[in-house]
Amino acid sequence: MDLPRTASAVVIGGGVVGCSIAYHLARRGLADVVVVERETVGSGTTSKAAGGIRVQFPTETEIRFSLEAIRVFERFQDEFGVDPGYKKIGYLFLVSDAKQLRGFEKRIALQRTLGADVRVITPDDARKLVPALRVDDLVAAVWGPGDGLAGPAEVTAGFARRARELGVKIAEGVRVSSLERTQGRVSGVMTSAGAIASPLVINAAGPAAARVARLAGVELPVHPRRRHIFFTEPFPAIPGPVPLTTDVTSGFYFRKEMEQVLLSPGDVEDIGEDFDVPMDWGKVEEAVQKAIQRLPIIGDARIAGGWAGLRPLTPDDHAIIGWAPGVEGFFLAVGFGGHGFQHSPATGRYVAEWLLDGKSSLDLSLFDPSRFDRPRAAHEASADAG
Ligand SMILES: Cc1cc2nc3c(=O)[nH]c(=O)nc-3n(C[C@H](O)[C@H](O)[C@H](O)COP(=O)(O)OP(=O)(O)OC[C@H]3O[C@@H](n4cnc5c(N)ncnc54)[C@H](O)[C@@H]3O)c2cc1C
Repeated sequence: MDLPRTASAVVIGGGVVGCSIAYHLARRGLADVVVVERETVGSGTTSKAAGGIRVQFPTETEIRFSLEAIRVFERFQDEFGVDPGYKKIGYLFLVSDAKQLRGFEKRIALQRTLGADVRVITPDDARKLVPALRVDDLVAAVWGPGDGLAGPAEVTAGFARRARELGVKIAEGVRVSSLERTQGRVSGVMTSAGAIASPLVINAAGPAAARVARLAGVELPVHPRRRHIFFTEPFPAIPGPVPLTTDVTSGFYFRKEMEQVLLSPGDVEDIGEDFDVPMDWGKVEEAVQKAIQRLPIIGDARIAGGWAGLRPLTPDDHAIIGWAPGVEGFFLAVGFGGHGFQHSPATGRYVAEWLLDGKSSLDLSLFDPSRFDRPRAAHEASADAG
């Protein structure tokens, strides 16, 4: 594909977020949208996601984002012609002290007001959901039966496919190397395959978001942090499906993937930003130690493999969505941490509304890019099992 020389909008990054934005812009009738992806569609941190989707967030905006995602994933096959592998397996949080529980209760009240089914259950009821669990040290569990999972690769492919059908050009293997500006306004990008003139550039570069923002002289607090996921050999001793289950105290989480058990130590590590994220096999020990605490029977399983990816974190765990301060025409949709996959459908929809209608139908001030310059509002961090 020849790289277009002009565009109405250039999206930097062909991950799930960039593809969703491009699709929604084109669906709303914007012609000449170009996505520039340095590798291949969906090969960034999207390919490392566990696929989890939960309404269990601390803020109204994020809960609404998740409810929107569930609506989209429920009818994804009809709209996109791709089976996203959507399953409502539920999310189960294991709570071992009263203070943790009080934090959950406050959020549950909000989640329920917005129509989400989330409940506090007893440790024994948690064991009815996952019989292999050790629950004697728990005070309660939090159960969201409407939560679930879908396939990040399938969903990204669905967005990209429909976007292309609607005229979006997706340039793979092309890297954006600089942002062109004229009198403080974006006028296009320079790439490894030449220049594209455009009045609108959208940063959807995932873990590379801060580096891309710096091309326009904008400092963004998006910090990529490594997380591992391991999987066992087929392990029928824990029959599936089981909810995506998180031990809140240790950060360990697990679920079944076909016959295997997926497990993560819930690690958060600064290794610098890189596309090919190296694995630290030393983390297997940490994952297994934490796993045995909760699932003693897992001591009989064998680890068959694993992977590591970068979660683009922000200081308050909320994404950054909005115009970049000081550079007209440069829009940000970044910092999605461990929930960028599930929030991609809503992000695409509301960003397209914002860009084409002048404002979005949902208040997105939670994600205001300038909030870090102000004295910090006390945002509650979410229990991010991603
Ligand atoms: C282990 C792990 C588990 C997770 N589990 C979940 C989960 O259960 N649920 C959930 O919702 N989320 C989960 N996440 C988080 C999720 O993966 C991310 O939030 C989401 O994929 C971010 O999507 P993105 O499109 O912003 O980023 P990416 O997929 O990284 O896309 C950005 C793209 O930009 C491209 N790019 C960067 N710089 C340039 C440049 N200069 N020029 C051109 N292209 C460029 C990159 O190649 C990349 O493809 C998990 C993450 C990890 C690491």
